[in-house]
Amino acid sequence: MLTVRGLSKRFHGRDVLSDIDLNIAAGEVVGLIGHSGAGKSTLARCLVGLERAERGEILLDGAPITPGEGAARQNIQYLWQDPTQSLSPYLTAKGAVMETLSGFGVGTSQARNTRAIELLNSLGIPQSMHERRPHALSGGQNQRVALARALAAAPQVLILDEPLSSLDLATQVSTISVLREIHAESGLAMLIVSHDLAPLRQLADRVLVLDETRIVEDLPMRRFSQDASHPLSKAYAETLQ
Ligand code: ATP
Ligand code: MG
Repeated sequence: MLTVRGLSKRFHGRDVLSDIDLNIAAGEVVGLIGHSGAGKSTLARCLVGLERAERGEILLDGAPITPGEGAARQNIQYLWQDPTQSLSPYLTAKGAVMETLSGFGVGTSQARNTRAIELLNSLGIPQSMHERRPHALSGGQNQRVALARALAAAPQVLILDEPLSSLDLATQVSTISVLREIHAESGLAMLIVSHDLAPLRQLADRVLVLDETRIVEDLPMRRFSQDASHPLSKAYAETLQ
């Protein structure tokens, strides 16, 4: 459904991504792992037009798209590693969700209000927090608001940049279950960037490893430990022992 062909990106004359091919099927959850600085966020941001790749094409349902423009802007949603970067400091939780609903054409303000409350409640944000701005919510709460805002766009693909890395263990566990619920209910395809393989065991159908600008492994999660062949993938597999 989302296909990337031959994507390359350089910063200041240095290759960060070289000739990346990837495919995410409808409803598939794909994990993307790699060292810090490997280019995971850059790849994710190229898919939503926050960075422009020098080469390559991106297709949605077989049709070439310009990331971040037209229907692609709605259909591919990106959540920043720092959830407050996905949110305006001036908008309340409900305001943020309503703004997205409005941007993507959900009818009356009453309909937007009802849908925003429903979305926030479904992500475990109690109504007492709906009128709060990001500074008055915790990191984990803001992340759920950012998730609600992204889901308000009714995208085909949700890209999550290290959704667990800034959370304590208990919040990580609850975020994993929220993501599983979202997937079970919506059948949304997801690309989950992570520096850690362990949480992907409970989330991903397939795992990609990015190293030295290239995807060096692409395996179903359940076969990752047995079949990993690249040294970095093997090192990741060992972290699961
Ligand atoms: P981390 O796990 O630490 O988040 P990452 O795999 O997401 O790392 P990126 O943020 O994609 O890595 O960065 C890849 C490389 O590109 C790094 O060397 C980074 O310094 C560089 N880089 C990223 N964005 C820019 C930019 N806008 N301008 C210049 N260099 C950049
Ligand atoms: Mg990153």
